[in-house]
Amino acid sequence: MPQSAERIKDHATLFNEPEYLALFERKKALECGASAEAVAEQTEYVNSWEYREKNLAREALMVNPAKACQPLGAVFAAVGFERTLAFNHGSQGCTAYFRSHLARHFKEPCAAVSTSMTEDAAVFGGLQNLVDGLANAYTVYKPNMIAISTTCIAEVIGDDLTAFIQRARKDGSIPEDYPLPQAHTPSFVGSHITGYDAMVKGVLSNFWNGKAREPNDRLNIIPGFDGYAVGNNRELKRILAEFGVDCTLISDVSEVFDTPTDGAYRMFDGGTTLEAATAALNAKATIAMQQYCSEKSLELAASVGQETAAFHYPMGVGATDEFLMKLSELTGKPIPESLEKERGRLVDAMADSSAWLHGKTYSIFGDPDFVYGMTRFVLEMGAEPIHLLSTNGGKAWEAQMKTLLATSPAGAKAQVWVGKDLWAMRSLLATEPCDLLIGSSYGKYLERDLGIPLIRLTFPIFDRHHHHRFPVWGYAGGLRVLVTILDKILDVLDVETAKTGISFDLVR
Ligand code: SF4
Repeated sequence: MPQSAERIKDHATLFNEPEYLALFERKKALECGASAEAVAEQTEYVNSWEYREKNLAREALMVNPAKACQPLGAVFAAVGFERTLAFNHGSQGCTAYFRSHLARHFKEPCAAVSTSMTEDAAVFGGLQNLVDGLANAYTVYKPNMIAISTTCIAEVIGDDLTAFIQRARKDGSIPEDYPLPQAHTPSFVGSHITGYDAMVKGVLSNFWNGKAREPNDRLNIIPGFDGYAVGNNRELKRILAEFGVDCTLISDVSEVFDTPTDGAYRMFDGGTTLEAATAALNAKATIAMQQYCSEKSLELAASVGQETAAFHYPMGVGATDEFLMKLSELTGKPIPESLEKERGRLVDAMADSSAWLHGKTYSIFGDPDFVYGMTRFVLEMGAEPIHLLSTNGGKAWEAQMKTLLATSPAGAKAQVWVGKDLWAMRSLLATEPCDLLIGSSYGKYLERDLGIPLIRLTFPIFDRHHHHRFPVWGYAGGLRVLVTILDKILDVLDVETAKTGISFDLVR
């Protein structure tokens, strides 16, 4: 046997041993698997223009969408508040998915509970599940706040959260004045970014409703759903400190998804304090780092009299310039010299590497704000976007993308794909290939099938570690994105040139 107590092999090597390869062949024969010729023929067809047209015309079926469901975003937003327990009214399996999805990306546990609705609750309603669940969660985990969102099952049967919560308070399972923000997050519409927005709005409404605003000069920033939140939120706080700006991050997950290993388990860590969330009502303005993650929350901020501004995942030079100029405009403070220097360093690095960056073609997929921000940075590098796809992007996003692409001759070949999935992206890349693909770990199947190198730069990244610890926003973050892209370009070049030895150079 290839495996023994003295010689433990990892599965990646173990299953390549002759015994296992023979076993896989026997299994395939037993299952009447298709012949290699039939697979090759089908692959050729799937890569054709004829198949692409059928694939893009598909309406009733989604295959591998580049988005997740609403309550995942609500859970992410909830855990960004101090000692807050994310609480899903719905099925246990949904909550297990949210926890595992976030834990696989951040390599940290994510605390979230559910009302464990099963068949009986689906028929008779989930009132008792919610009343008992709140009492248990409050007693066992002792959070400072429980943030309630819903999964499909509760939404399909139309459970009335507001009435159920009132009943839970009346029954004494939760104190009358205990904060219980809520968000309806039906997953048959929207995506995780809609759920994020709904929960942020739910928390702010919980603390703001009925209170008189006493305006001050502080700012609020809503980071949005972000797989790089640990690095980005810290970078944001560093930039704000350089500026000397008093600011509240609304939902800050940077500590809870990066707890140290020092012998103490922290179910809760860091986060926006409930006092700060309450006081955020008085801020002069609320800024969203990702417009499509914060539309309802910004409406709420505007409705109480705050100024608002929205960005699209600001990466690179121009987007960071605009963000800093907005901070300067709102606070009346000049942009610090230290940040001006950082800008110069990013521009210098881009110029140093321009020979490798210029003219490269990219396809990008992900959340609408990420695809916008990434495309803008790609254009700044003198590279050419080809397919820009956002499953959860809408018509407004499409229009904004087209306006952006029109600002540069490098955008001339780009096509914007709204609401399409990664199976559609496969057809696009098979028929109109590009040099590089930027997206999440799910792009690795496209990389394998089509031979287009994948650069992992957005959520979820399951198969690489610790990317989220480093920022991609701001000038410093832009430098990291630049290095990530360059490393991939030069790694690919080394592999290709090593085949012949021609141009396998030491200096690039
Ligand atoms: S789509 Fe609905 S059923 Fe599926 S995990 Fe999300 S909430 Fe649960």
